[in-house]
Amino acid sequence: MKEDLHLHTCFSTDSNAIMSESVEVAIERGLGRIAFTEHWDADYPERYREDLRQAAGDDWEKYHPDFDARPLFTFDIEAYFKELEKMRRIYGDRITILSGIELGLRPQRPDLVKLYREAVDKYRFDVVLGSVHLVNDEEPYYPEAWFKYGADRLIEEYFKNMLDCVKEYDFFTSLAHMDYVVRYVPEELIDCTLEEYFKGVCAKNEKIIDEILKIIIKRGQALEINTKGAFTRLKHVHPSDEIMERYRLLGGTRLTYGSDAHYSKLVGDGIYGV
Ligand SMILES: [Zn+2]
Ligand SMILES: [Zn+2]
Repeated sequence: MKEDLHLHTCFSTDSNAIMSESVEVAIERGLGRIAFTEHWDADYPERYREDLRQAAGDDWEKYHPDFDARPLFTFDIEAYFKELEKMRRIYGDRITILSGIELGLRPQRPDLVKLYREAVDKYRFDVVLGSVHLVNDEEPYYPEAWFKYGADRLIEEYFKNMLDCVKEYDFFTSLAHMDYVVRYVPEELIDCTLEEYFKGVCAKNEKIIDEILKIIIKRGQALEINTKGAFTRLKHVHPSDEIMERYRLLGGTRLTYGSDAHYSKLVGDGIYGV
């Protein structure tokens, strides 16, 4: 069965997708199962609010009427489940719709571990993606952090953050887009092609990557194949083939697939079957 277990709608701060439109695209594309995994990055740094507003399209306010009233990358979970139930009533005979959440993990934050664990216990999400988006509380989407650390160092810090998080957060069901940070490396900072650089990341960080993989394998948490990278300048899914090979050699077998679509028309992109 084809499935896409990583989708965003306008419940996520950075998406304008309408849930019903995404479900219809999923059905058209022959997906049997989908999960709406909205962003929840608790305590995401407020200094990025204006950048997010400016990156958004003109019709942003229409989809995010509570943007200024709500912490960034959080959503109304009760309203989300109401909408999800509505989708199941309308489309449930044609597709399985799972609940989900994409948790923004940060290391050394026992307050977030507690908050996320309570939410996961309370709402019983079908899919809980564990994602590291920030590097030492800085957003690698913007070039500043890259110039501060340098490319290799920033990526090493990213994986160190991830290792700490994997140790601390034992309740996510799948580790999302494991090496996605590479997508944003400024080309001025590397002396080879992006493709070559991407391939080398696993070897440079192999010890940390192996530690991360061993922990999730031992606990039975899955690893996500995130197809979004294939449609960025990286032109490759996450994680890289080299990381996938480490995962295989270490005995990993549990994979989930996700497009990470933030637009309805991209639902299922790059997912060819499971
Ligand atoms: Zn993510
Ligand atoms: Zn996502």
